[in-house]
Order: sequence, then C-alpha cells, then structure tokens
Amino acid sequence: MKPMGAIPSDFNDLVFTIPDSTPAFFYYSSVVADRVARFRAAFPGVDLHYAVKANPFGPLLEAMAPLVDGFDAASIGEVGRVSAFGQPISFAGPGKTNGELAMAIGGGITINLESEGEADRALAFGEQLGETPRLAVRVNPEFELRGSGMRMGGRASPFGVDADRVPALVKRLIAAGADWQGFHVFAGSQALDAQAIVDSQAHTLDLVARLGDQAGAVPPLVNLGGGFGIPYFPGETPVDLEAIGAALLPRLAEFPDTRFAIELGRWLVGEAGVYFTRVIDKKVSRGETFLMCDGGLNHQLAATGNLGTVVRRNYPVAVATAAPGAPTETVTVVGPLCTPLDRLADQVELPVAGPGDVIAIFMAGAYGLTASPHEFLGHSRPAELLVGTPA
Ligand SMILES: *Cc1c(COP(=O)(O)O)cnc(C)c1O
Repeated sequence: MKPMGAIPSDFNDLVFTIPDSTPAFFYYSSVVADRVARFRAAFPGVDLHYAVKANPFGPLLEAMAPLVDGFDAASIGEVGRVSAFGQPISFAGPGKTNGELAMAIGGGITINLESEGEADRALAFGEQLGETPRLAVRVNPEFELRGSGMRMGGRASPFGVDADRVPALVKRLIAAGADWQGFHVFAGSQALDAQAIVDSQAHTLDLVARLGDQAGAVPPLVNLGGGFGIPYFPGETPVDLEAIGAALLPRLAEFPDTRFAIELGRWLVGEAGVYFTRVIDKKVSRGETFLMCDGGLNHQLAATGNLGTVVRRNYPVAVATAAPGAPTETVTVVGPLCTPLDRLADQVELPVAGPGDVIAIFMAGAYGLTASPHEFLGHSRPAELLVGTPA
C-alpha cells in the first residue's frame, strides 16, 4: 500500500452527487466562493485576479467574474473567453504576435510586456491604431520563490524583462505616451511554505520600489504574482494565507499611490474540481489488483504524475459510490490508455470496488482537462459541469 494526498476538507463527508455519465469533471462553486472569501479576509484592499489558464471552463469563468477584480490571460484565446465579463484583463505570455498585440490594444487590454521587442511592437501598433496602449512591464526578478513547484525568476528567462533593464524601458514607455500600468512580477508557482511566499513578496516590494525610483515614476498597479499552492501529495499541508497577509499588509502603506494585485489560479479552483471516472473492468495480475476506468491521463494528466513531476506520487482519490464503512483493499487505478503511464492511483487502499463503481480523483479543478492530451488515443471527451456544492 502506498499513501495518497489528503482529500480536501470541503469533501469531508464524502457524499457525492454521482455524474449521470462518466468520465466527468465537476467544479463546485461553493468551494471557489469559500476560497475567494478566505482571500478577501486575509488580504483586505488587495485586488484578486484569476489566472484563467488554471481552468478556462466557461461557466466557471462566469461564476468567477463577479468574485474577482480582474482576469489574467496567458493567450489571446483566454482574453476572448473573459472579455464579455467587463472585468479588467491583463495579457501575459511570451511570443505575442502582431495580430494578438493589435487585438489587445484595440480591446483596451493591459499587455504585460515580456521583452523590449514586444514593447516596440506594442508602441508601434498603438500609433498605427490611434490608440494609447495600456502597458505593464513584467519583470524577470533576481530572486525566485523558494520551494516553488515551478521557478520563474532568478535566471535567464523568456518571461519578463531583466530587472536591471526595466527602468530604461519604463521611461521609454512613458515618453512614448503609453498608458503605463505598472509592474508584474511572478516569481513562481505551487508554493506551500508561507514564509517562502512572504520572503518573495518582500523582495518584490523592494524591487518595485527601486525600479520605480530609478524610472522616476510611481507604478499605478503592481501585480505581485501569486504562487499559492495546494497540497496534492501525502505530507503536504495547506498554505497559511493569514500569515502571508499579516506580513504583506503593513508594508503596502509604503506605496500609498499604488494598487496591488495577487493573481491566483490553482489555489482558487484546484480543490474545487473532482474528476469522476467509472470502473469498467477489474483484474488481478501477479498479485496486484487493477481497477480499469473509462478515463485517465487523457483527461487528468497531472494525477498520473506526467505533468511536470519528477517522482510519481498519489493524488487523493476515493470510491464515490462506496457505502460508508465498506471493507477496503489495495488497488491500482488505471485509465483506458495503452500506456503504462496511465496510472491514476498506485497501490492505494480504497473501499472494495468493481465494474460500475465511480472513482473520484480530487484536486482536479486546475490544470485538468485543458492541460491533458484529450485527443490522445481518441477516447471521448469528458463532460464538464459547474455545480453548487459537493453533496
Ligand atoms: C500560470 C500563471 C499563474 C497561475 O499559477 P497558479 O499556480 O495556478 O496559481 C499566475 N500568473 C502567471 C503569470 C502564470 O503564468
């Protein structure tokens, strides 16, 4: 038997409405609303942005729109998905094409500039279109978010302009008549250690203060990035939001003329999603019991350990159809793909299940379907549904 991650406390009683058809993703709006409320309580006065790429499901975005202060898009496609909601949108990401820049400028979207070349093109398009481009400078900081699942700073990077070159760029944007929106500093992702986030935010504040001084301009907005993680694996614990807020808020008084935003993806929606897959077949092979299901890595790649993880560990899973107190056994849960990579849970202890039972894979609300190769092997696409509460 191998351990699995802890089931989010939102699902403590393990009572589910089982989807009519499987495989299916359910996203629970009550969980999202809870996370937003916790953010608001810990960070009063700080804007909350949703990073669309974590989960761009239309109904979820619609539910999110009145809860957040802005959307952060990572492509013009994501911009399009949120442009009808009337919230401020910023558009980050390397390699923005001329067409994408022109669309963003025409739509009044804030472009988070990833390079000086992008700045030149944005300024030229602004002039050509007769529009004042709204431009923020994404900074490639000298530091990184410690303990981050994905480090984004402290090294050569396609993301952002190296910090030492930022003041000159800001001066140039302002001189060219752009509507300079401030700074974007994203130092990493999936951090669970509050102190690491506190340190990274403190470094970010020092950095933007210095860059503003050097540029001779006060940034109207600073997007502090995010990086709040969620506990996917055994032994991991939730990030202490209150500790981060308590450290950050007193320092914001140093910047009376700047608004601050935190952009979050997985922390807002990751725990709100459950992927349901039905057991089709069961067998024992060389002493190991397998539950073969109707969906797997084609829909929920991350749970199989194939989305940027070094060592495969088990996500939290449950048998959604199990009776309370049912006897348990050790099973390996696999999907229907003809590859040994398609392993949703490896030798976990679950209530005895068989064909017809439904397995719940938790932590499926972020980087799920859209981060999985759902065309791979040509199985059908899973349903996605926004629902109210788990039970
Ligand atoms: C992906 C991304 C995010 C969201 O990251 P999460 O780990 O889901 O919170 C935020 N900001 C930027 C710039 C990103 O690229």
